[in-house]
Amino acid sequence: MDGAPSLRDDISDVIVSEQQLDEALNRLAASITADLGECRPLLVGVLTGAFMFMADLVRRLDFPLQIEFICARSYGEDTQAGELTMVMDLSCEVAGRHVLIVDDILDSGHTLALLVRILQQRGAASVRTCCLLDKPARRAVEFEADYVGVRIPDRFVVGYGLDYAHHHRNLPFVGVLRPELYRDQHQEPSPRHEVRSSDA
Ligand code: 5GP
Ligand code: MG
Repeated sequence: MDGAPSLRDDISDVIVSEQQLDEALNRLAASITADLGECRPLLVGVLTGAFMFMADLVRRLDFPLQIEFICARSYGEDTQAGELTMVMDLSCEVAGRHVLIVDDILDSGHTLALLVRILQQRGAASVRTCCLLDKPARRAVEFEADYVGVRIPDRFVVGYGLDYAHHHRNLPFVGVLRPELYRDQHQEPSPRHEVRSSDA
């Protein structure tokens, strides 16, 4: 449409291009197939950020599996670090299942560490984790994902499922917003501030 605003104009730096995403997805799918291809795993996507990653990942997995979503917040006004608020829980049993948690980005590590513990407590046969992006510099708890797409520097990123104030999730690549688009123009947002990212 002529004159329609372009989201791409809001991006100052592309951090992970569409081609790099494609390569990461193929690599992740190959490792996951090798490890879980024979055990009918339960894939648990963490909403909202992982919706696009989950959709593109499962298209590359050619074996029987179940897909579920969960929505949890590990910090925000009503939670403290180390505590998880379940906004939407799974609708199935996990006891005896081989579970793979699929998340958009591993930051402090709180969300995935807590989710792993919860699913283990529910009796999962195994719990593995897969994240598209990893910011190792920001880790606050000892946690590493079993499958990592791309390691990125400590920048606040949007696109490919990730938002800033509910927007930019629909960009097909991962990037950083132009600084003047942040509410506090002098500082790139920290995901610890719930107002900045509507996810966990
Ligand atoms: P963690 O518990 O590892 O600190 O939190 C991870 C969650 O924080 C992610 O799933 C994501 O929702 C949010 N988050 C962390 N870093 C970023 C970022 O750079 N951009 C956006 N949009 N969200 C982020
Ligand atoms: Mg998330």
